[in-house]
Amino acid sequence: MSESQTKNSLRLPAISARGYFADVVQSITSIAIGLSITLKYCFSKTVTIQYPEHKLDFSPRYRGIHEFEASKCIACDLCAKACPVDCIYIDYTGRGKNAQLTRYAIDYSKCMFCALCTEPCPTECIHMGRLHDLSAYSREEMVVEFMDLDRQGLRTPVPLWMQKEKLPEWAAAEKARVMAGELSPTASDADIKPPQSVKRK
Ligand code: SF4
Ligand code: SF4
Repeated sequence: MSESQTKNSLRLPAISARGYFADVVQSITSIAIGLSITLKYCFSKTVTIQYPEHKLDFSPRYRGIHEFEASKCIACDLCAKACPVDCIYIDYTGRGKNAQLTRYAIDYSKCMFCALCTEPCPTECIHMGRLHDLSAYSREEMVVEFMDLDRQGLRTPVPLWMQKEKLPEWAAAEKARVMAGELSPTASDADIKPPQSVKRK
């Protein structure tokens, strides 16, 4: 390629004065729209809270980390069969009425909190809880062994924040509940009013 050909190929396309000013106006308008949105959020009500100092209000039917009553489980496998992502691991000895549960684990790196596992349980021993904090350093640690928890008198894993000595009032009450192995109170459908737009027959 000759020198003149190279210069021609690098030359910017010609732009009219009208097009130039249209671009300037468009840029200023875009910046003004962006800044107006920023300003709007600067003066609107804050939605973030300092957790766990302040309590988070969840929906009454919030589906958190499971709570499991090992003594009621009959190792029927129905919950594991209902799970769409196969993240419930059950081991047992014996068969039928003589089945003895030896392992009940849920892999929370897969669980999507759909609650389908709670629906078919004939003894209602697997529940969706209301705690949501479960942190770990590896995928293996995301597998919660509920039989190990049961041996410690727990129904659900203890969140890391519960290890803090000074806790706000609501968190201290929640810690006392979890450490006592109590189930979280969950609202039944009858307690919840449907939204105005939804009409039930
Ligand atoms: S909540 Fe859904 S994904 Fe999680 S264990 Fe139950 S059925 Fe499986
Ligand atoms: S469905 Fe219920 S009783 Fe059956 S294995 Fe699952 S938790 Fe246990």
